[in-house]
Amino acid sequence: MKTEAVVLPHDPHWDEARVAWNLAVDQQPAAVALPESAADVMAVVRWARSRGLRVAPQGTGHSAAAMGSLAHTVLVKTERMRGVEIDAERRIARVEAGVLWAEVSEAAAVHGLAALAGSSPDVGVVGYSLGGGISWLARRYGLAANSITAVELVNADGELVRADADNESELFWALRGGGGSFGVVTALEFQLYPIAELYAGVLFFPIERGKEVLHAWRNWLEDVPDEVTSVGRFLQFPPIPDIPEPLRGGSFVVVEATSLLDEAATDELLRPLRELGPAIDTFAAIPIERLSSLHMDPEHPVPGAADGMLLRDFPEEAIDAIVGAAGAGSGSPLLSVEVRHLGGALGRMQPGHGALATIEAGFAMFAVGMAMTPELGAAVRVHIEVVQAALASWDAGRDYLNFTERRERGERLFGSTTFRRLQSVKAKVDPKDVFRSNHPVRLPGGRLRKAA
Ligand SMILES: Cc1cc2nc3c(=O)[nH]c(=O)nc-3n(C[C@H](O)[C@H](O)[C@H](O)COP(=O)(O)OP(=O)(O)OC[C@H]3O[C@@H](n4cnc5c(N)ncnc54)[C@H](O)[C@@H]3O)c2cc1C
Repeated sequence: MKTEAVVLPHDPHWDEARVAWNLAVDQQPAAVALPESAADVMAVVRWARSRGLRVAPQGTGHSAAAMGSLAHTVLVKTERMRGVEIDAERRIARVEAGVLWAEVSEAAAVHGLAALAGSSPDVGVVGYSLGGGISWLARRYGLAANSITAVELVNADGELVRADADNESELFWALRGGGGSFGVVTALEFQLYPIAELYAGVLFFPIERGKEVLHAWRNWLEDVPDEVTSVGRFLQFPPIPDIPEPLRGGSFVVVEATSLLDEAATDELLRPLRELGPAIDTFAAIPIERLSSLHMDPEHPVPGAADGMLLRDFPEEAIDAIVGAAGAGSGSPLLSVEVRHLGGALGRMQPGHGALATIEAGFAMFAVGMAMTPELGAAVRVHIEVVQAALASWDAGRDYLNFTERRERGERLFGSTTFRRLQSVKAKVDPKDVFRSNHPVRLPGGRLRKAA
């Protein structure tokens, strides 16, 4: 391992090395490793174990808030591992651990192919996919985790293993939805889909029309096919130069959607929503790689606080509750409160699926606010709890790992049967609990690690 691949607290680059994408999180690990290859990762894991340290893999730090203390832990940041290969004939992508979604989407688009990318261009492919992965194509193609065809990872012995349907099949199952508790993933292979272009856009309405628009969206969902994935959302843009006019400083209720139907069928489908008279209508046929800007997520590190919940359903009373908590006049400091329509392929179990086989919920809520100071962060967190409390009657009883930024019990993330199976895999592949994840699968019996 090259000496510059490990940064220690006395190093002049320490603050730069330990920073997470979420700038509100102050990461204080024992060391930061910046591997460039699988061989470097093997050396880092052995180096950490020889010093009795634990290992926490991190791609970008989008989900750094959930990690908790990194004491006695080497933070393995994979940001230098950025190889992307597209096998257009087999429709398979192979990406190294530090690759961001925009990088894959662009490389695949050259071949008229699409990956099940998340809404944000700079979320890490690996963290997103290990946690499930709800994309803009989710209702048609399911969770990204279930499109993974192979995983290469460095295990607790510092050895590189390949897990797929035929080798290490139980580990392969666990990695697809069970998160980052089983090793440091060095590369992923996953399926791509033949989509070069699709119909997508946003309808913006003044936030004061929240109730009317969300009710209309909810009614509209009754008839949409799996080819359509959509989101109902409150957006309150700050008055900063990063936000283009005419959105800058504005507050809106929006419907965002993607459609794999042809333009005429999509136009016909959208008619009832367009008849509401949106202030801005951006729907158009777009090249697939432009999808990563549809959700208007920040494309560089920001300080933020976020959390989500899964909803059984989103009936009229739930809409009224979310309007009261996050709509006009609610005093909400949140930048975005969104409700994503799930169902379709997300709810259909297929043979060969991984640990997160389906999402047993009709909708997912995710709320986020800027945390420029600790006080603002605290106000945002309090208000996210207000939104969650308002929707508590529709709580699906489970949480989605990728949309959970607080510590949550494994049973709530995975269900008790799946969680026990994940614990058995953990006990087999990492009996000393070397690997730390943002949402850890603890060893059976709640055993906590004492020494690596
Ligand atoms: C703006 C924004 C938009 C988002 N949009 C979506 C979305 O559309 N759909 C969705 O499903 N989620 C979405 N998310 C949630 C996102 O998927 C999670 O935050 C995810 O954990 C991010 O992965 P990361 O690698 O970028 O983050 P990191 O914080 O780097 O990683 C999160 C966890 O993944 C694991 N991990 C990462 N790399 C490795 C590795 N090499 N080996 C082993 N484990 C690893 C670790 O357990 C780590 O703690 C969004 C989040 C944000 C902030």
